[in-house]
Amino acid sequence: MSVHHDPDCLFCKIVEGAIPSTKVYEDELCYAFRDIAPQAPTHILVVPKEHIPSCAQVTDDNAALVGHIFTVIAKIAADEGLTNGYRVISNVGPDAGQTVPHLHFHILGGKRMPDQMV
Ligand code: 5GP
Ligand code: ZN
Repeated sequence: MSVHHDPDCLFCKIVEGAIPSTKVYEDELCYAFRDIAPQAPTHILVVPKEHIPSCAQVTDDNAALVGHIFTVIAKIAADEGLTNGYRVISNVGPDAGQTVPHLHFHILGGKRMPDQMV
C-alpha cells in the first residue's frame, strides 16, 4: 500500500478493495472503476493509487504520475470504443463541486455532452 494512503478516504478504500467497485483498469500506479452514479453511458473514474487530494496538489514530484494517468485515460477511452469523442473532467474544491478529496479524472462518453461546461 502506498505510504500516501489516507485511511479515511473513500477512493483510497476503493483502491485497496475495502469498498467494492467495478474495476476497468489497474496498474501499479493507478486504478480505474465505473462511477456509481453514471452521468453518461460510459462514466469511469481514474485515480492515482497514491492519495493526492486534487489537481491543486499536482507538483513536479507527481507530474509524471499524472501524465501516466492521461495515457491510461486514452487507452481506456479506446477500449470503451469512444471513437466519437469523450470528456475528461477533474473537479477541484467546493466551487467545482468536488465531493471526494482524492484526485480523480472522470471519463464521460457515449452521448453528446452538453455544450456548456465547457
Ligand atoms: P466529484 O464530484 O468529486 O468530482 O466526483 C465524485 C464521483 O464519485 C461522483 O461522480 C460519484 O458518483 C462517485 N462516487 C461516489 N462514491 C462512490 C462509490 O462509492 N463508488 C463509485 N464507484 N463511485 C462513487
Ligand atoms: Zn485517498
